[in-house]
Amino acid sequence: MAELEGLEFGKSDFVLLDEVTMEQFMENLKLRFGKGRIYTYIGEVVVSVNPYRQMDIYGKDSIEAYRGRELHENPPHLYAVSDAAYKDMKRRAKDTCIVISGESGAGKTEASKYIMQYIAAITDPSQRTEVESVKNVLLKSNCVLEAFGNAKTNRNDNSSRFGKYMDINFNFNGDPTGGHINNYLLEKVRLLYGGSNVMLESLHLQNNPALYVYTREGAAPFYNVSQMISLHINDFKTCLETNCHLFSLICQGNIEFERNGESVQIIGLEAVTHIAELTATDPESICKSLLYRTVATGGGDVIKKGHTKEDAWFGRDAFAKALYERLFGWIVSRINSIIEVKDYNPLLHGKNTVIGVLDIYGFEIFDNNSFEQFCINYCNEKLQQLFIELILLQEQREYQREGITWQHIDYFNNNIIVDLMEQPHKGIISILDEACLTVGRVTDTVCLESMNTKLSQHPHYTSRKLNPTDKSMDFQKHFRVRHYAGDVTYSVEGFLDKNKDLLFQDFKRLMYNSANPVLKDMWPDGKLSITEVTKRPLTAASLFKNSIVALVDKLGCKEPYYVRCIKPNEMKSSVLFDDARCQHQVAYLGLLENVMVRRAGFAYRQPYARFLQRYKMTCEYTWPNHLMASDRDAVEAIVNQHGFQDDVAYGLTKLFVRAPQCLFTLEQERADL
Ligand code: ATP
Ligand code: MG
Repeated sequence: MAELEGLEFGKSDFVLLDEVTMEQFMENLKLRFGKGRIYTYIGEVVVSVNPYRQMDIYGKDSIEAYRGRELHENPPHLYAVSDAAYKDMKRRAKDTCIVISGESGAGKTEASKYIMQYIAAITDPSQRTEVESVKNVLLKSNCVLEAFGNAKTNRNDNSSRFGKYMDINFNFNGDPTGGHINNYLLEKVRLLYGGSNVMLESLHLQNNPALYVYTREGAAPFYNVSQMISLHINDFKTCLETNCHLFSLICQGNIEFERNGESVQIIGLEAVTHIAELTATDPESICKSLLYRTVATGGGDVIKKGHTKEDAWFGRDAFAKALYERLFGWIVSRINSIIEVKDYNPLLHGKNTVIGVLDIYGFEIFDNNSFEQFCINYCNEKLQQLFIELILLQEQREYQREGITWQHIDYFNNNIIVDLMEQPHKGIISILDEACLTVGRVTDTVCLESMNTKLSQHPHYTSRKLNPTDKSMDFQKHFRVRHYAGDVTYSVEGFLDKNKDLLFQDFKRLMYNSANPVLKDMWPDGKLSITEVTKRPLTAASLFKNSIVALVDKLGCKEPYYVRCIKPNEMKSSVLFDDARCQHQVAYLGLLENVMVRRAGFAYRQPYARFLQRYKMTCEYTWPNHLMASDRDAVEAIVNQHGFQDDVAYGLTKLFVRAPQCLFTLEQERADL
């Protein structure tokens, strides 16, 4: 068993602070970070501070030290919550989930990988080939997804541009049998690039991002695809072979258009030829899709309408983004088909249980916030709502139900902000969708005006029009939402186009007609003729909203564990603890409220019968049988014999234990018998 920490490392659980104040919280967090103690508990929640250096706490020895142990027996660690989630699932056949949150660069993805590694390490001790291969594929799938979905941003060199929720399935033995991945909102505006020179040559590309419009701008995310290929993962071979299409879209930015009299023509036919080769289509069809759009007239005729230069630009970029998005979606579906649980027979294999791991982008406040930030922040409001619901409300309700007196805690309930964003008819997403559905030229500014009118009374919404003295906002461009995590000013520029997410049917058909079967497979909707695609597709915001609502439902019915990640500074430094930045994160993650609720309450609770069953052997009055009037009385006998009277409360059906130490003592005695 690992040594428990001494007091010089501060309090290993914020519940043990002398007083629950922001000062004490920050002092403890900083002290621990300085001493290399990056994890601290709030009850069962792990607060993690990104160390920005390699820590010697993830090796085999550490895994062994945490394996099968109770949460507070060892110093705080991701391994301990992973073990708790695993034990909970195995002992009680309950689905559990681990929700990892925090801002960009706070360490979510790294945490999710350690969690997966831990679970892989502690399961299937007999190392049967089929289980080993499931684990292997689950772990490796990360590399593939990261290679395609991560990018270098100015906040994180390896930033996940998509949210990921992974279910790991287990059989009754507690061995992994498969899994499933859901991805959320892949940010399409960033592209990836890389590859060996030989490979690039065959693709008519040069290893110089400056040559390509799409990779030239901003911080071009470099990710080496050849590195990925060298992983030699057989199962993913098909995925990797398809990355040619990905490169084709990088060329696409180099296609330019010029006006020629009434019509528009293409400059850069060389790029078109390359794209045709890479996508197994012909240059002529590509040109047609780039210059014309097929439209159905009111009379039912189908005509070709020439693009304006702006339409042509828009079409080209939308096509490149869609190609990337579909490829990513296709990779995820390929991985899912490889890792899905096969040949599962509940009669033979018992109940199938799940541990879900959610690694999703945290709250984003940039200088310029657009549609993507709006969606990401909406998602975070929803997760915060769930957190409040599950951790805070659930706790309070249980005490009330069990008839246990306790102090009421005031906390901020963010329902009002969630409503502002998602409410039917009145919420921002609805207003956006309505603007997108309106025929004629509704501009972003018109949409902003509509929001200003409809939301003028909302306490969490403002704009320059509603607050003319605030010169930090522009009349035509900005609106501001007071999020639980802070104020965010969004620029509506591009909101409508991004929400419509329009891709001309001509491009879909072009890809559907590709001679490459994999590419064709990614574009089943290209089969439809223009007269068949009359139904308006859901907007990007609505699709995203639906996926997040489904996610929250999924998480809501599982026993949740939380990892709250904090980014100590903006410099990626391993020694700098930026007080203001950290305090801001502690505040918006609601950590202080979390401590208060936890302290007001009891760390552990267990139904009398189960408690008795587990610990009856530690007390002379209850072993082997008890002669008390009820299980509750028998539990009281155990508690009294150990002298824990002051640390517990008796609810209607459950025993509530304030100090976790009591349980360690009992567990230890049980183990020693
Ligand atoms: P994003 O939302 O942008 O995806 P994130 O929260 O997933 O960000 P990570 O990619 O997990 O952030 O972490 C950023 C970087 O911080 C890592 O690449 C790594 O260098 C460092 N880091 C994070 N956690 C740890 C850790 N436990 N030990 C060592 N380094 C870490
Ligand atoms: Mg990440």
